[in-house]
Amino acid sequence: MAENEGLDFIRTIIAEDLASGKHQEIITRFPPEPNGFLHIGHAKSICLNFGISLEGQNRRCHMRFDDTNPEKEEDKYIKAIIEDVKWLGFDWGKHLYYASDYFDQMYEYAEKLIQEGKAFVCSLSAEEVRATRGTLTEPGQNSPDRERPIKDSLDLFQRMKAGEFDEGSYTLRAKINMASPNFNMRDPAMYRIKHASHPRTGDTWHIYPMYDFAHCIEDALENITHSLCTLEFEDHRPLYDWYLDKIGTPCHPRQIEFARLNLTYTVMSKRLLLQLVQEELVSGWDDPRMPTIAGLRRRGYTPSSIRNFCERVGISKRDSTVDVGLLEFFIRDELNETAPRRMAVLDPLKVVIENYPEGQSEALDAVNNPNDESAGKRKVPFSKTLYIERGDFMEEPPKKFFRLAPGREVRLRYAYFVTCTDVIKDDAGKVTEVRCTYDPETKGGNAPDGRKVKATLHWVSAEHALDAEVRIFDRLFHNENPTAGADFHENLNPDSLQIIEQAKLEPALKAATAQERFQFERTGYFFVDPIDSKADQPVFNRIVTLKDTWAKLQKKN
Ligand code: ATP
Ligand code: MG
Repeated sequence: MAENEGLDFIRTIIAEDLASGKHQEIITRFPPEPNGFLHIGHAKSICLNFGISLEGQNRRCHMRFDDTNPEKEEDKYIKAIIEDVKWLGFDWGKHLYYASDYFDQMYEYAEKLIQEGKAFVCSLSAEEVRATRGTLTEPGQNSPDRERPIKDSLDLFQRMKAGEFDEGSYTLRAKINMASPNFNMRDPAMYRIKHASHPRTGDTWHIYPMYDFAHCIEDALENITHSLCTLEFEDHRPLYDWYLDKIGTPCHPRQIEFARLNLTYTVMSKRLLLQLVQEELVSGWDDPRMPTIAGLRRRGYTPSSIRNFCERVGISKRDSTVDVGLLEFFIRDELNETAPRRMAVLDPLKVVIENYPEGQSEALDAVNNPNDESAGKRKVPFSKTLYIERGDFMEEPPKKFFRLAPGREVRLRYAYFVTCTDVIKDDAGKVTEVRCTYDPETKGGNAPDGRKVKATLHWVSAEHALDAEVRIFDRLFHNENPTAGADFHENLNPDSLQIIEQAKLEPALKAATAQERFQFERTGYFFVDPIDSKADQPVFNRIVTLKDTWAKLQKKN
């Protein structure tokens, strides 16, 4: 089918189902469980499901909370998930659903299966169920309750619902096949007793459906055509199909599995992310080092960079791990085009221009974005005392160091050529000040006589500088696969957060408003922290470095 060329395997199936007339309408859904914040892996699923709904007429994507496990679910997670999916740029219109809205219908279906002899109430404990489940080579054993009379099962199930029994005393199980090679088909539990209060249904229910039973019914009731999920549910598909066949729902969605997104240097499971939050190893779900949507947003990622990343990763059937550098590539690439340039000195070293008049200053022209003329220009103040980056000066430079050193001339960006004439040190031998002369003929950064310099440094005028906090984030883990072998705690990167309390920034940044993004020349891309910034006192988060220095460093080691 040539017209489907370039489509991933899921979109190909959808195109074929439309072409064959199997479906006139395509309905997908994104079904998070509200037991944590969404992460970048969920973004892949969001971009797939909502993406498909935007690729033609008569399509839609439902937002559905799979809230069947009251113990771990919270309202704050529902709010966060809604905010995150909207921020990513997707809209479900009126199609917002909750699995708990279907509890009555699920219960009815369960009774129907009991009445038809396809489900029974079992009194085995969880441990006994485990012990009788069998192994890969041996079939499991039938529950002694498997042939319980239908009316007894019905009675017990109704009393389970009424809250008459303790948790763990009974379960409702499907009557399928204890000898099936697929464990999911060995008389799986459909309902368990839980005297838990549910965020939406309160204390109405004393029994809650198991994921496999609930999920396929949710899909069927919403007339989902293609139920897209990750590969670990492949073995659950026969059960999903069994339930819908036996119940006889008018709609029987097709489940299609795809590979989940894994990222290097990142843990992705909500369980582990929750652990990071609870153990206060990060400042919260929205810590800018977290792979959560909220964390990426606070760090300064844009929705488009995340969507572009998901598109590039694509959809496949094979599990793989994507280099986190690819995610960084997409935000860097975007900001290179869009972010205004500013100068900021993160590790300041004082420079005094000996031949520049005391008390004088001048406003120099600086372009906002060399990639975008429409971004215009700004003025940057220059004066006798400046700051440069400590790392841009060396008293005894090795061969390949071309930046400032005694006797050497370099360019100060947008300003002048300066030559180092002297170095001042403290008692411990640390350089505290560099003295230079400037060449007034080189205003704007070019010498009329055509002489060249090998380095251009960024700088900030001392008296005009804005002191601001800058947060430098690095990977949360120093191991490519943080959960391999060892406990992930052992792979935490102790240097993942560095706070610079008094960076020296060009004064234009005083007016930076929350959520603005900038390139600090030669140091990286930065975002005005939306939570800790105050008027006139912005806090900057480093979104990403300018170049992929990490990859280089790794190669060297
Ligand atoms: P986790 O395993 O990370 O705790 P989950 O799968 O339990 O997540 P759900 O809330 O059930 O989280 O996920 C909602 C949807 O997002 C599901 O359809 C799931 O398949 C999908 N999803 C979750 N993690 C990933 C991932 N890493 N890559 C792609 N899709 C994912
Ligand atoms: Mg899940």
